[in-house]
Amino acid sequence: MEENIQGARLHTAEHMFARALQEQGLDIHVRKADTYREDNIGKAYVKEIIPFEKIIEAEKTVNAKIIENLIVTEENFENLDDAMRKNPKLRFNEDRLDKEKNVRVVTIGQYDFSACKHRHVKQTSEIMMFAVKRISYLGGETEIEFIAGNDALLFLLQIKNEVLESAMDRHFVPEKLSEYIKNENERIIEIEREEKEILHRLLESNSQLIVLKDVKISKFYGELNYFIKTHAERCIAITNEQQITIMKGKDCKVDLLKIGEELKTLGFSGSINESSINGKVNEKIVEEIDKLWKA
Ligand SMILES: [Zn+2]
Repeated sequence: MEENIQGARLHTAEHMFARALQEQGLDIHVRKADTYREDNIGKAYVKEIIPFEKIIEAEKTVNAKIIENLIVTEENFENLDDAMRKNPKLRFNEDRLDKEKNVRVVTIGQYDFSACKHRHVKQTSEIMMFAVKRISYLGGETEIEFIAGNDALLFLLQIKNEVLESAMDRHFVPEKLSEYIKNENERIIEIEREEKEILHRLLESNSQLIVLKDVKISKFYGELNYFIKTHAERCIAITNEQQITIMKGKDCKVDLLKIGEELKTLGFSGSINESSINGKVNEKIVEEIDKLWKA
């Protein structure tokens, strides 16, 4: 691919990003780094897990170096030894460098020295901005996507506006997004706890078919199993009028196989065994179960 200015921004930023990660004491083993791509998204695959905080710290450093407007220079050396003598902090990829061949050293201010053949900007202010776009951890590796220039500015604006819109809809201050999410999560946990408490009381006080319209029955499976274990003499039936779950404690006398046979004659095609019945139901089947349960 042709090495255009947008690619040069991204690529030069990548030099500083690698340095900024290294500066934090990370012995970075980059498996692969792509910057000159059609989509202008840089990708670095690192053979270890890099903590989120360290990546964000490096991002901050790169943007500080962009603002410092460091001058980028290139100098050719006869071989790697010569290049290293002049630049003791030289970064290079041993696997990809022929030590006997000419080496071009790219220097960014006094910050980074790297052996590289690609196109770079002349001074770091040309990069405008650098942003990490996505971080994925897969199989002990870290994949980091990053962008620069206009792409970074537009990305940050988009994220900012998405947060702003959510904040307006839900009445929170955008800067406090993580606090808001934390409170929401706590609220959800509280609601789920209450929900289970109510279900438990309902089961304890009610031996008839329990109808909970528009509620996903499957999310209560754990609770229902627990109830039947601690109430071995009971049999419980719960439906949302679309799905039914019947469970039987080990000391309960109800014959679920017999009930299952009757339901089959009404078109029930779910699973039936000695200790449980599960499956789709219609109004007729619900009515029949209700009758059976009352009997
Ligand atoms: Zn380079």
